[in-house]
Order: sequence, then C-alpha cells, then structure tokens
Amino acid sequence: MKPLAIFGGTFDPIHLGHLCVAWEAAELLDADVLMMPAGLPPHRPPPIASAAQRLAMLRVALRGQSRLIPDARELARDGASYTVDTLAGLRAEQGDRPLVLLLGADAFAGLPDWHEWRRLFELAHIGVLSRPGEPAPLPQALEQEIAGRRVDDAAALQLVPAGRVIELAVTPLEISSTRIRQLLGAGREPRYLLPAGLFDSTELLSPYRR
Ligand code: ATP
Repeated sequence: MKPLAIFGGTFDPIHLGHLCVAWEAAELLDADVLMMPAGLPPHRPPPIASAAQRLAMLRVALRGQSRLIPDARELARDGASYTVDTLAGLRAEQGDRPLVLLLGADAFAGLPDWHEWRRLFELAHIGVLSRPGEPAPLPQALEQEIAGRRVDDAAALQLVPAGRVIELAVTPLEISSTRIRQLLGAGREPRYLLPAGLFDSTELLSPYRR
C-alpha cells in the first residue's frame, strides 16, 4: 500500500526549504504528504503569525499541485499539538496504511523531548530529511530505540504500517523561517526563498514586517 506521509512544522512562514524537501520525500517514498501546521508547538515560543495566517500562506504555497496536501487538524485542536495524538487520529482513519512522519534531521535529534516519543514508532515510520550543516549527534536513548529499525530502501516502508526509520537524502537548502523573519523584520524582500505567491498580496507576510 502506498504510504501517507506527514510533514508538520510551525511554518512561520512556510518556505521553499519546506516545500522542496516535502516534494522530494513524496517522490522518494511514492507517497502523498499532509502538510500540517502546528497549533501551539510545545517545544518553542509561540509563532509570530496566527494559525489562520499560517494556514493562508500554506494554501497559497501549495497551489498548482495535488501531492502536498494542506491539513489543518492540529490548528483545530485546543492546547498544545502533540504529534502522538495526531498520528493516533490518522492511524484510526487510515487502518493499516503505512504512515511516515517526516522530520528534518535537527527535529529528529530532539525527538526524546517529545511527548510519548517512543509511541511514535508504534504509530508511524519516520523519514529523516537531511538538512545542511553538521549532523546533530543523536542522544543515546534515540540511538538505542532506532538501532533495529533502520532501513535503506523506501519499498520496505510499504510492507508494514509503522516502526521503521529511513534517511531521505534531499537537496540541502540553507533556508529557515527564522532567517526569513529576520529579513522581513529588517525591511528586506526575501524573494526566491519563499513561494512567489506569498508576495502577491501585501497582507500575507505583514505579520513579519516592521
Ligand atoms: P524556524 O527557523 O522558525 O525554527 P524552520 O525553518 O526550521 O523554522 P519549521 O516550521 O520549524 O521550520 O520546520 C518544520 C520541519 O521542517 C522541521 O522538521 C524542520 O527540521 C524541517 N525543515 C525546515 N527547513 C528545512 C530545510 N531547509 N531543509 C530540510 N528540512 C527543513
């Protein structure tokens, strides 16, 4: 069965790094990808743009293709968005379909801080997306958890619904939302780091401008 992948993030704002790696993961896994903005991310300060503004930017960014699909379920939930709850909901909906949680290498290295992190492996596979820079060392608890789970071939993810870990070598793009917020805050116009559609109205990027 073709997997369904999930790419979550603050998307404050969504940028071409997110889009490019999500697209490449879709191709490498032969999967559709749910692009899921986090409501109140438990691990970081609250986003600058509101949930509605981040979703509006995402919808504009995803125009013109159907493989990366906006999914607002975490925005609809009150309180912190825990990935484990999202995956449990998707598992109930999708039966035995393989699910693949996509995480940038930096996010993956921090996994042991996540709520009920070991349960994530019962609910989904994990696809680790390479990100430019020195690879973050993995905490020992995470190394131990993934020792018997690593696979090299994406086809292996289609055989069972969850529990495997694959590294996905995607094009390294040194783009981050932090840098884009800094540029916009400094009065710059960071075209070509963001989807062109975000510049079509002055409103979409206004939360970040001075
Ligand atoms: P910020 O700078 O605000 O922390 P970010 O650019 O890292 O934001 P997030 O929305 O926090 O973006 O990231 C969502 C997911 O996308 C995370 O798993 C992160 O590792 C991954 N990601 C973000 N940018 C890239 C990139 N350029 N290449 C690969 N993965 C990325």
